Amino acid sequence: MSAINDMLAANERFAATYTMGDMPPQPRRKLTIVACMDARIDPAPALGLHPGDAHIIRNAGGRVVEALRSLAISQQLLGTEEVAIIHHTRCGMATFADDDIRGRLRDTLNADADHIAFLPFRDLEQSVRDDLEAYRQSPIVRQDIPVRGFVYEVETGRLREVN
Ligand SMILES: [Zn+2]
Repeated sequence: MSAINDMLAANERFAATYTMGDMPPQPRRKLTIVACMDARIDPAPALGLHPGDAHIIRNAGGRVVEALRSLAISQQLLGTEEVAIIHHTRCGMATFADDDIRGRLRDTLNADADHIAFLPFRDLEQSVRDDLEAYRQSPIVRQDIPVRGFVYEVETGRLREVN
């Protein structure tokens, strides 16, 4: 019993009928999405995306600071020209503080993570605004393109913009 073994079996079935081998790497919609890694969010059906359409950069919380490296590559090397930042309701990032995870890392792995910012947040809308600001403050991402922030409601599947 292993989730990875299950994954490998599913991939065998997927590859048996795979036909997208010639797709170009540049996202067709020139769109990059920064979103939380939350397992309840499936961006493709939720946002009408198909393979080849967009870059989706995911991390805990959908935090921009952690995504800047990928955003720069997406824009400079793969031609994306719009950015959507998506945080969501009931996010796990609102359930802990830096000291909680630092303490847990000390207890379970004997690791000193006191220098690491894990970027939890308390106010959901404010976290989106903070990330729009983090984007604006970065010199390595384009400032001449649309950059918009959203909250995805896991309760309804609906996206709402944060201004
Ligand atoms: Zn989340």
